[in-house]
Amino acid sequence: MSRASSVLNEAQKIVSNLSVEGGTLHPEVQAEHDRVVADLAKEFPQVAKAVKWTYERRNYPHFDQYARNESRGGKITGEIKIPVFGKDQPLARVDREQDMANKKGVMVPGGLRSILAHEFGHAVNHHIIRHGDDALKDEWFDKKREIADDFAVSEYGKSAINEGVAERFAAEFMGQAPRKLIPIMHSYLERATEK
Ligand SMILES: [Zn+2]
Repeated sequence: MSRASSVLNEAQKIVSNLSVEGGTLHPEVQAEHDRVVADLAKEFPQVAKAVKWTYERRNYPHFDQYARNESRGGKITGEIKIPVFGKDQPLARVDREQDMANKKGVMVPGGLRSILAHEFGHAVNHHIIRHGDDALKDEWFDKKREIADDFAVSEYGKSAINEGVAERFAAEFMGQAPRKLIPIMHSYLERATEK
């Protein structure tokens, strides 16, 4: 099997770490989810394998739900929850709701793709912390503080250090900002997981 096809197969398996409350997603939303998660999994396979994605039906807006979840025998270490407000909404509607979830213009734009990348940025941060030793964790916390002002991309990102990381991650992943943070995160991930 070629490297490219094995990466794609791996990404496809990772995409299946998905649950949808109350049924299925609109095919357009499902396809976008699969595309974004496959893109993330190609670049961050070790993190993607540790993430579970849950789509929840909600009557009120909530957003930005990444939680540590160590309940699955150590394989899954984090869960991302994405709200969908009604049944079978097409992608354009879900994109609009994600962009409006907090306040228009407060977060990096990009609809569903943006929020999926943002939450995955939290998962990468968690992976570094979970697998790093104390010295590496201290270094990572210092690094995040050091780069926070220079790397700021949105108002929401200025609300907390880890929100700044997640927002910058999303902006860089979508090509809206130069890749400065992601290479740093890769280097910490490598150091955190090397045996
Ligand atoms: Zn966040």
